[in-house]
Amino acid sequence: MLRDDGPLTPLAGCTDVYVTLNFGTLKARRFLNLWPLDALRGVRLRGKALSIGALTTYTELQRSPLVRRRLPMLAAAAREVGGVQIQNRGTIGGNVVNASPAGDTLPVLAAAEATLVLGSAAGKRRVPFDSFYAGYRTTVMRKDELLLSIEIPPVEGLQRFRKVGTRAAQAISKVVMAAVFGPSVRIAVGSVAPTVIRARKTERLLASGGSIGEARRVLMEEIAPIDDLRSTAAYRRRVTANVLERLWRRKG
Ligand SMILES: Cc1cc2nc3c(=O)[nH]c(=O)nc-3n(C[C@H](O)[C@H](O)[C@H](O)COP(=O)(O)OP(=O)(O)OC[C@H]3O[C@@H](n4cnc5c(N)ncnc54)[C@H](O)[C@@H]3O)c2cc1C
Repeated sequence: MLRDDGPLTPLAGCTDVYVTLNFGTLKARRFLNLWPLDALRGVRLRGKALSIGALTTYTELQRSPLVRRRLPMLAAAAREVGGVQIQNRGTIGGNVVNASPAGDTLPVLAAAEATLVLGSAAGKRRVPFDSFYAGYRTTVMRKDELLLSIEIPPVEGLQRFRKVGTRAAQAISKVVMAAVFGPSVRIAVGSVAPTVIRARKTERLLASGGSIGEARRVLMEEIAPIDDLRSTAAYRRRVTANVLERLWRRKG
C-alpha cells in the first residue's frame, strides 16, 4: 500500500500524530493503520541480539523480562514516558520515527548501539541507529518504508538512565541521558542538540581515566542546546553535566 497507494502516513499508537493533527501542523489526511499488525509487536531474542518489534508499547517494554534483564535502561525510560495512558498506547517505533530530539528512548538506543530494521515492498535494510537521523526531525527512512524492528546487541556493563523534566510524569525532557559504564563508556544525550547525540569526546576522556570534573567541562562544550519554551540553553548545559556526574558517581 505504501508503494502503490501512497503517500500514506503510518499510524502506530497515534499519540504523536494526534497532537500534530490537533495543532493543524499535519497536512496529510491519508493514513495507514499499523495497529493490527501483530508481526510488528513483541520482544524476542534473535541470535544474541534483542529484537523489539516497532509496535511494542512502553507498558510491554516495562513488563518484558528480556528487556528488564538485558536492557534495564530501556525499561527505566519506558517507565518515565508520559502517563499510563500514553505508555499503553505509545510505541517505541513511533518514538524513533517521530524523530523528536526529546524522545526518551532515543538516548537508550544510541547508547545500546541499536540497529533499525526497515522494510518496504522492495525488501529489508538495516540502518545503524547513529545513521538514522539526518538532522532536526528528519530521518533517512523513505516514504515507502516502515520501521519493522529494533535490534540490540548484548550490552556489557552498568546501564544508567536519567530524565529531567518539569515534573515526574507527563513531562517532555529538558535533558535525557543514557549511559553504559563497562569495557567501553557510552554516553548519549537527548534534548541538547537537533538530534540525539553520543558524547564521544566525553566518552573517550572518561574511558582513558580522565576526571569527572574534566568530563563535565568537555560534555558542556560537546552539546549544543538551545533556549526554548521548556528551558534555557545555559540550564540544559549545567544540568547535563550534573546528570553525568550523578550517573558516574553511582556506577560503582
Ligand atoms: C500527553 C503526552 C505525553 C507524552 N510524553 C512523552 C514522554 O514523556 N516521552 C517521549 O519520548 N514522548 C512522549 N510523548 C510522545 C509520544 O507519546 C511518543 O513519541 C510515542 O512513542 C509515539 O508513539 P506512537 O506509537 O503513538 O506514534 P504515532 O503517533 O502513531 O507515530 C509517530 C510518527 O511515527 C510514524 N510511525 C510510527 N510507527 C511507525 C513505523 N513502524 N514505521 C514507520 N513510521 C512509523 C508515524 O507516521 C508518525 O510520523 C507524549 C505524547 C503525549 C500526547
